Amino acid sequence: MTTVRDNVDPAEVAKFDALASRWWDADGEFRPLHEINPLRLDWIRQHADLAGAKVVDIGCGGGILAESMAAANATVTGIDMAEAPLAVAKLHLHESNVDVDYRQATAEELAASEAGSFDIVTCLEMLEHVPDPAQIIQSCAELVKPGGHVFFSTINRNPKSFAFAIVGAEYLLKLLPAGTHEYEKFIRPSELEAWARHVGLSHKDSIGIHYNPITKAYSLGDNLDVNYLMYFQRD
Ligand code: SAH
Repeated sequence: MTTVRDNVDPAEVAKFDALASRWWDADGEFRPLHEINPLRLDWIRQHADLAGAKVVDIGCGGGILAESMAAANATVTGIDMAEAPLAVAKLHLHESNVDVDYRQATAEELAASEAGSFDIVTCLEMLEHVPDPAQIIQSCAELVKPGGHVFFSTINRNPKSFAFAIVGAEYLLKLLPAGTHEYEKFIRPSELEAWARHVGLSHKDSIGIHYNPITKAYSLGDNLDVNYLMYFQRD
């Protein structure tokens, strides 16, 4: 029997559980997420008003994005299937003085109980860690209100993304632990767009996330070859 928890890869969740204590170490394994967060938060705010919005962050981990949206006056729910990152996320609220409702749940479970109740759904750097990303996209489409905003980010699948996101980031520059990403799970923008369109999400905008190894700085730009963000609106 298929259940709402089938779309979880226990090995993937275990990777994030093992690293949880390091989540808020800005120089640790999650440094790239800390560094890209202001950029992606800005891009989200260019498309959707966070103030007063009801937001759910799918695969929130230790809460880097969730907290920053709460600080921008959104009412944020954060869900993840890894227990340890959620525990770290909850503790970190005491340091940051913002409020986020963290829950251990799948997107599919939340969609079964709270369909159509969110103004904004974010699901960043998560789709490449699940067995069936199209199913997550469907749940995100169910969770958002008609006319609401949905944001995804993931990694493209081509020889350049293999070279940059795996060989470069994990082995040469050691920006991420080896084994963080699997090439086969990367998603082309055309695939993401088609899955989203199929469940009533219209594509509005996309942007690439770039890393410059010389300046060690991240920036947003037109090229979607490696890491990218996509924005959709519910029909
Ligand atoms: N979205 C956060 C964290 C990305 S790391 C950010 O961008 O800052 C990926 C997260 O997805 C991890 O915390 C992992 O535990 C979570 N995850 C993986 N599979 C999941 C699933 N099926 N359901 C919910 N969360 C999942």
